[in-house]
Amino acid sequence: MAKKFFRPDMAFYEVYTISPEVLSELGVRGVVFDIDNTIAPYEIERPTEKMNEYFASLREAGIKMAFVSNNKGDRVSVFNEGLGLYYVCKAGKPSPKGVLRCIQHFGLPKEEVIAVGDQIFTDCLAAHRAGIRFAMVKPIQPRESLFFRTKRYLERPFVKGLDWLAAKDVKKKLKT
Ligand SMILES: [Mg+2]
Repeated sequence: MAKKFFRPDMAFYEVYTISPEVLSELGVRGVVFDIDNTIAPYEIERPTEKMNEYFASLREAGIKMAFVSNNKGDRVSVFNEGLGLYYVCKAGKPSPKGVLRCIQHFGLPKEEVIAVGDQIFTDCLAAHRAGIRFAMVKPIQPRESLFFRTKRYLERPFVKGLDWLAAKDVKKKLKT
């Protein structure tokens, strides 16, 4: 598979930087979110107030949202309870299936949908195989297990040199 499949199209320090303004700048009207370590650490079962405010701001801006998680149904449905978003659990990313289902659910052209996630070999690959752009965020809580450290190590060549955008510089950078 071509290297570009593994390369995020953009990178942000945290999910909250991907504001309605940023999405509008990118021409995006639908966002497919990964949950674990992208929006919330594993042990946070339900969205915090900050997370709820973030989702509300996108919703108010008319942005369509969905979750695609490799995690099991309980995790996703509990997290999504108060939000009521469309979701796909046990998505088997890097399979593009879950992402494709969300695009179809949104009814938007692929150019207007992005995926947001923290991992190259699952989230990024699934997004690109589905034919949409991928926005990487820094994993909230890097797991220290050998498995995760190995994964991060293998991700390095594809993450290297990415221009990680913070809220303060995101607008000027995206405009150029
Ligand atoms: Mg994740």
